[in-house]
Amino acid sequence: MVQLPTFEHTPMEGVETAYKTVYDKFHTHTTKPIEWRLKQLRKLYWGMRDNMDLINAACLKDLGKPVHETYLSEVGWCMNDIIFVCKNLAKWVKDESAPDIDLLNKIVSPTIRKDPMGVVLIIGAYNFPFQLSIGPLIGAIAAGCTVVLKPSENAPAAGAVIEKIFKESLDPSAYQCVQGGVPETTSLLNNKWDLIFYTGNAAVGTIIAKKAAETLTPIVLELGGRNPAIITKNANVRLAARRLYWAKVHNAGQVCVSQNYILIDKEKLAEFLQELKNTIAEFYPDGVKNSKDYARIVNNRQWQRLKKMLDESKGKILLGGTMDEADRFLEPTVVQVDDPTDSLLVDESFGPLIPIYPVNDLDEAIRLANKVSDTSLGIYPFGNKKETARVLNETRSGGASINDGFFHASIPTLAFGGVGQSGTGSYRGKASFDAFTHRRSFTKTPGWMESLLAIRYPPYTGKTKQF
Ligand code: NAD
Repeated sequence: MVQLPTFEHTPMEGVETAYKTVYDKFHTHTTKPIEWRLKQLRKLYWGMRDNMDLINAACLKDLGKPVHETYLSEVGWCMNDIIFVCKNLAKWVKDESAPDIDLLNKIVSPTIRKDPMGVVLIIGAYNFPFQLSIGPLIGAIAAGCTVVLKPSENAPAAGAVIEKIFKESLDPSAYQCVQGGVPETTSLLNNKWDLIFYTGNAAVGTIIAKKAAETLTPIVLELGGRNPAIITKNANVRLAARRLYWAKVHNAGQVCVSQNYILIDKEKLAEFLQELKNTIAEFYPDGVKNSKDYARIVNNRQWQRLKKMLDESKGKILLGGTMDEADRFLEPTVVQVDDPTDSLLVDESFGPLIPIYPVNDLDEAIRLANKVSDTSLGIYPFGNKKETARVLNETRSGGASINDGFFHASIPTLAFGGVGQSGTGSYRGKASFDAFTHRRSFTKTPGWMESLLAIRYPPYTGKTKQF
């Protein structure tokens, strides 16, 4: 058994010191050379690798997360991202010339350089405590920023391991980890940042956005998803059942980008339910509760919230529904909902609830998807080419996976982010570097050009006709 480090809130004076430390460091310019960034990224890689057992243990303690899932969506994910960024960083940091310029403008060498945004605050969420904290951190280091990271206090074991990795692996004058909840985060937000990168719910996202607006601080918001899945009458129902069920059992449905509800063509409902039963029997032959391959709800508050959602819904439970608060267990629960205003459809469950609403046709599905969740984080249409293309064309969302549940979000080099209500800005791979980079345009005007520039100076008389 590994010994997990203890989670402790950072004392308030430590919060202030963390900001001052990384602020001062950024203004020494030492985090800017690419060699510095690469060295820190490599150290981060090895810090994660050396602490793999602790990462697994922390995810198990906080979320009951199976090691396989921890590798897939936390540690393996972050380490692969570091390798990808290290391989490509030299290319990304290079200056870019302005495209399509005429000969005269070429003389002044119009260029875009990639400056770090500066001193940045990253606020993580609990459901993927490593990926959602370390992921943005990779982009910030790659871009040459200095960072205070505030992991979620709701995944305390993971937070403590992240802090250990920081202390062991990263330069403490440039990268600080602050632990805490609302008071500590509020204190952090009272400082002037060059960028705030927040992952979490939209209510807190609004608080962050308002606070940032006071100082015109740019923000990246990675917010919640009330994501629709659509199963048309031409869909492969077996695939839809397996893929959408998986998308709701991974991390016990605590996935921002998994489907929040399923709109299914009425003709396909019975077949879909049968395929879900087959899938459950295949995934969990000894029952979900007895399986080591199913996570738990992060804490009792979230468990109670999910129970309340189920209790208050007028829908009918078709599959699942078993609960055990002491174990924070909530069986994946399929509920047929017949009212499009049911809270299971309109509110984000962020848990293993699978509401299904039968529709007459694709027109109704698209209309409802747009009404219930106009700018969702993801959308998941299952159907033939024409139908899935139509869904993409007639809806809006941060991203989409056609004939799958959130596959797009697992592609490490594909920019990931929301739109409208589900967030602003994106990251992952090159997009992470871009998120923390200011594209600074500049020109260099040679002295010998002065005679050519005379045309711009007053008096203008007689000059206009020279154009
Ligand atoms: P959470 O409880 O971990 O909170 C997120 C962060 O907000 C934490 O670090 C917390 O300390 C901070 N916070 C809480 N209250 C605050 C306040 N008043 N002021 C400042 N900071 C505060 O996680 P959560 O918000 O419950 O996460 C679930 C939500 O996040 C869901 O809506 C989910 O869809 C969304 N989410 C989005 C993404 C994404 O990438 N788009 C990823 C994960 C989760």
